[in-house]
Amino acid sequence: MQVLVINSGSSSIKYQLLEPDSGSVAASGQVSRIGESVADGTVTVEHHSDGKTLTHDGAIADHAEGLRVVFELFARGGHDLSGAGPAAVGHRVVHGGEVFYEPTLITDEVVRTIDELSALAPLHNPANATGIRAIRELLPDVPQVAVFDTAFFHGLPDAAKTYAIDAKVAARHGIRRYGFHGTSHEYVAAQAARLLGRDLTEVNQIVLHLGNGASASAIRAGRAVDTSMGLTPLEGLVMGTRSGDLDPGIIPHLARTADMDIDAIDHLLNRDSGLKGLSGVNDFRALAERVDSGDPAARLAYDVYIHRLRHYIGAYLIDLGEVHAITFTAGVGENTPRVRADALAALTPFGITLDPTRNTTPSHSPRPISTPDSRTKVFVIPTNEELAIARAAAHLIT
Ligand code: ADP
Repeated sequence: MQVLVINSGSSSIKYQLLEPDSGSVAASGQVSRIGESVADGTVTVEHHSDGKTLTHDGAIADHAEGLRVVFELFARGGHDLSGAGPAAVGHRVVHGGEVFYEPTLITDEVVRTIDELSALAPLHNPANATGIRAIRELLPDVPQVAVFDTAFFHGLPDAAKTYAIDAKVAARHGIRRYGFHGTSHEYVAAQAARLLGRDLTEVNQIVLHLGNGASASAIRAGRAVDTSMGLTPLEGLVMGTRSGDLDPGIIPHLARTADMDIDAIDHLLNRDSGLKGLSGVNDFRALAERVDSGDPAARLAYDVYIHRLRHYIGAYLIDLGEVHAITFTAGVGENTPRVRADALAALTPFGITLDPTRNTTPSHSPRPISTPDSRTKVFVIPTNEELAIARAAAHLIT
């Protein structure tokens, strides 16, 4: 069985065709710069299958056109999606609001509701709904499943999910902590339990998903009890371009004193803040190079990043009491030993000790990086949201 997994962003579509059991990927690729005018010869679709890369260049007007090109490239690469095709299509959907908290078979009504939740995720949900509609036209007979980024955090305890604002205003506008990256946190937590050789229900763990977006979660017995992202993916850790936590008073202060309207402030906090706002670069590799070359702005950005990360680790250690595993995942978490070392420095009194050799030995496999006698085990586990979505979709249709 093969499942096509689609992750539609506002101007991009990432996709994979894979076998949910083995995880083996038959083809994958990305459409970028949707809706932009591009110079002649600009590659906008890159498709990988059977060790070969096929490309398409030229402007892509919208998601529907992007997917039509993807289907052509699939056919050229030897996979006719409209013929034997995938058994199901799994879509990553960012915001499920209060409505969706498990993988959901897509109907007209479900797509409408995803659209209606757009007020909570204005950049993401409209793109997700557009991608779903386009695939439903291309593959009308194939079941489609939505997997929600917020779902894993649906059951957060009230104390963790409630903002201390006027309760009536919050209720009227759906304001609570929803959490994001849930598919990744859930997948990684299951893998960590496996590495511990214990049942998920027996372990307490902290998962640190550190990519361009970044989030932390505290998980007790397989259920999330706290997470760093909130109503939107802006809250919490310092990210590539997002500020993470800040004094909400900054927003009215900017509106009054910097003459910025709400869209300008939104843009500042989501696109021009975080590592980029502090150092000029959002990519962690570029940041690390600047830190090493002695750039003081990059150093400060790095220090703020680590300081915030340690605060969350500290908070979740207290939330959970006994912690069996702390796991690093996503682009930065999987590839940056210094972040892992600095995040967990001097925590031996808390039962957490990294092994410097294990931490710095490159690998793409799930692995422990703590010392054998560290009471809390520390792991690096590559995340695989596509596989988790494919498995969820396959499970729902069989
Ligand atoms: P997202 O899915 O949120 O876009 P990723 O999980 O792909 O993000 O992570 C992107 C981040 O990971 C970037 O800051 C990038 O620099 C960093 N990253 C990716 N690979 C490496 C690597 N080999 N070494 C250091 N950093 C890396």
